[in-house]
Amino acid sequence: MKNFQALGLSAGLAEAVQLIGFETPTPIQEKAIPLLLTGNRDFIGLAQTGTGKTAAFGLPLLELVDENSSASQALVLAPTRELSLQIVSDLENFSEKFKKLNIVAVYGGASISEQIRKVKRGAQVIVATPGRLIDMIGRKAVNLSTIQYVVLDEADEMLNMGFKEDIDEILSKTPDTKITWLFSATMPREVRAIAKNYMADPVEITVGDKNTGNANIDHNYVVVQERDKYSALKRILDFNPDIFGLIFCRTRIDTQRVAEMLMKDGYNADSLHGDLNQAQRDKVMMKFRNRTVKILVATDVAARGIDVESITHVIHMNIPDEMEFYTHRSGRTARAGKKGVSIALVNPKEVGKIRQIEKTVKTPFTRMPVPAGPEVCQKQLLALMKKVHDVQVNEEEIEAFLPAVYQELKDLTKNELIKRFASIEFNRFLDYYRNAPDLNVNGQQSDRGAERYSTGDRYFINLGKMDGLEKGDLLEMLDDCCGVGKKHIGKIDIKGAYSFFEVEKEKSEAIISGLQGVEYEGRPVRVELTEGRRENAGRSGRQSNRNHNSKKQGKAGQRFAGKRG
Ligand code: AMP
Repeated sequence: MKNFQALGLSAGLAEAVQLIGFETPTPIQEKAIPLLLTGNRDFIGLAQTGTGKTAAFGLPLLELVDENSSASQALVLAPTRELSLQIVSDLENFSEKFKKLNIVAVYGGASISEQIRKVKRGAQVIVATPGRLIDMIGRKAVNLSTIQYVVLDEADEMLNMGFKEDIDEILSKTPDTKITWLFSATMPREVRAIAKNYMADPVEITVGDKNTGNANIDHNYVVVQERDKYSALKRILDFNPDIFGLIFCRTRIDTQRVAEMLMKDGYNADSLHGDLNQAQRDKVMMKFRNRTVKILVATDVAARGIDVESITHVIHMNIPDEMEFYTHRSGRTARAGKKGVSIALVNPKEVGKIRQIEKTVKTPFTRMPVPAGPEVCQKQLLALMKKVHDVQVNEEEIEAFLPAVYQELKDLTKNELIKRFASIEFNRFLDYYRNAPDLNVNGQQSDRGAERYSTGDRYFINLGKMDGLEKGDLLEMLDDCCGVGKKHIGKIDIKGAYSFFEVEKEKSEAIISGLQGVEYEGRPVRVELTEGRRENAGRSGRQSNRNHNSKKQGKAGQRFAGKRG
């Protein structure tokens, strides 16, 4: 693989790039840089966002521009303010040694007079969003007659955003002799038309398969009823405790509603949509960039051009109306060679659209189940334990507090301590997910106990593998404490910190009363009817702390007493 200097860059620029930490050129850089450095050919680069295309056009541009002339020589058009600022920042980083070079960003939502002042001072390179540049042209504040190079970055996004006329007008103000470089992730008819109208015999280079999604994106979908989409979203978020994600909604109203519901439910979420003014938008983006906000809910238009590193998931609350939008949405993850996950929430009527998108992006989608309640609990518990394991302990400062803490906990064994500690956070999830229904349409695994075991009741019990509970122990406990033998018990599901079991309806009352006040390994046993229909189905063991042994005599009492030891 070549290094940057071998691509024809001057030693100074190659060194600057290396200092930034780019060791080897990306495929688009390797292909585009030598061509663009000639400065005499129109060029079309078909590359997904995140492939390194800013350096692919930026480095040749910096070589070609004459910093000793103050005329505006290069114009880069980009769809959004964020992308424009990103391009300026990259170009400035590359060109630190070019002391006389002025790179000016021109974008809406900030003072136009300040931008005009900077352009008038002499900007060899202007990086602009089309709308604001049109304003400047209208005020005769910018002279495009000296432009030699025009870059249309993310051309498909600019056209999607309705900048076609603005681009036409801007290009008409530049000299016919200019060289045009166009970059686009996709090549719809409208982009082809721009190329045809404004470019002469362009060289076309494709990185990856055009119109194909980034290979690092794992495309998935879940099938749920429309009314269950929000619950399914929460399951997915809870199942991915480390998520840093972007959620797409079709309308501003949906965007706001989903974000508000998430915030109310305690998620670190915010929204980005067209009703926000620039200052509000900046504030949200800053919070998302620095990860104060972990989940950003956005409309397609508002999220265009968002270039935030390490987004782990893109979630689609519905399939976008335009197939191209799907590529733009999912392209916000898996940037700069990282992996990313895209999950579309579709109702049964939308499944056909998944097939269409599969054809467009030429990638098969995987149908994944909406995680079941216990799976979410398990995932959360493990995430919590990892957090405990990895927490930074401030040895010096905590030292003085520890004797009192040890004193408070001195009668607890290590296992007991772990269980209680885990339960503090975990009970919240357990409470929420205890009766969580299966949200999958035609799903395989149903955790609606009553549906699966129609003649019986399904109980939750607060004992599981972590307590050393096995199926045999539970059967024995139910037989001894409740007088309900094995033949009346249905499916038993022993989980980590809790379990479920099914009982014939006629024996149900005996379970609640039989386990009232029972303790297991010193811990009050709590059972609950998962459907919650029975009036008496309450918490046992809460009111009374009676020991199992003191209540029940005989075989089981001895056995549980033994375990307690
Ligand atoms: P871009 O497609 O220009 O937005 O670039 C995506 C990301 O890749 C940015 O964070 C760049 O800093 C990074 N990047 C670009 N080129 C290279 C390279 N040759 N080596 C390592 N990282 C790069």
